[in-house]
Amino acid sequence: MPVKSVRQNFDPNLEMLPMMETFRQMVNHCIKTGLENNCSTLKKLSSFAYPMLRDYNIMSYYKLTAISQACGRLAQMKKDIKKGRNPKSPYVQKPYLVSCYGFKINGMLLTFPIRNREFANILLNEHVVKILSDQSITSRSFTITPQSLSISIAKNVELIKVESTIGIDRNLRNVTFGNDKKVIQVNTSEILKIKENYTHIRSACTRNDHRIQKKIYGKLGKRQTNRVKQRIHRMSKSIVNYARKQKAAIIFEDIKGIRKLYRKGNGQGNRFRRKLNSWSFYELERQASYKAAWNGIPFCKIDPKCTSTRCPACGGTLQVDKQKRRDLWCGNCERWQDRDVIASMNIAYKGLYRFCNPQGDASEAMRGNLKELVILRVDVSKLVMDW
Ligand SMILES: [Zn+2]
Repeated sequence: MPVKSVRQNFDPNLEMLPMMETFRQMVNHCIKTGLENNCSTLKKLSSFAYPMLRDYNIMSYYKLTAISQACGRLAQMKKDIKKGRNPKSPYVQKPYLVSCYGFKINGMLLTFPIRNREFANILLNEHVVKILSDQSITSRSFTITPQSLSISIAKNVELIKVESTIGIDRNLRNVTFGNDKKVIQVNTSEILKIKENYTHIRSACTRNDHRIQKKIYGKLGKRQTNRVKQRIHRMSKSIVNYARKQKAAIIFEDIKGIRKLYRKGNGQGNRFRRKLNSWSFYELERQASYKAAWNGIPFCKIDPKCTSTRCPACGGTLQVDKQKRRDLWCGNCERWQDRDVIASMNIAYKGLYRFCNPQGDASEAMRGNLKELVILRVDVSKLVMDW
């Protein structure tokens, strides 16, 4: 079941604030116990921490969720250490409260217990009520902080019957998606422009006081992220809608580790590295994957090997021409082809092959094995769109 959350602003009353603070202390207490006893599984941590939470004046519902919150934070730290990242401190700084027990949503009110037979109510706004009114949605848990309330919701969706696949090729200046029937290219230069603009603004905003400087940078950074994210949301929404109309699965390339290509000492210029390292390639994938899951569209990632070096029609190796940088030449078919179109078609084919042979190696898809599965076409029209 796919899970999402809805969020709204709210002002907690005087009873909720101390509850959140108690909850924060309980989570930190559990984390401390977990670190001391070197355990991060729910079962083990519960046996250690639950007796210690006896003195906290809060309902036992919340003690259980505090332990599971601590578990999640400890597990995240463990994962970071394992992957060689710099682990963040697992301790919680800000008061909050999470619970999946005992709460109810009646129309416009969220009701949850404070003490025995005493309840608190939060008025939900129109947006949240509208989302929760859907019959197929069930609410799983709620989280309150001093500023906001978010409710995590799950939906019962049925996977659509896949008839085709669409491949998505992400580039610095465009996103191309489609299959052998139609390819759509979306120009994303505007995102690049926004980022450049903000770099420029930041360089002009200098203050002698580093605290003020930090504040300004934070504000600008937030605004930049929001503007970029909003554009990516528009894009991922249209991709998912297109896939739903075509009854197609969404296929992405797994380009994890691409940042390693643009590191200091690789012989590239500063500006080039900045541009490529600020490329938010993952955000589109993240948004598309959860939106696809929410709509019952299958989503999968494939190995990017050979997707832009082989001809989707004959499987031959494509040649690069230095003058025509975005075009590739196929010697067998004797024609120039757009490299983004080729990549998205190849990704779609690889994905289709994966769907037809769940155990098979998707790289085989390039060598003409697919000829039995689909009729290959290369004369696809490319539709260029601008946001
Ligand atoms: Zn060819």
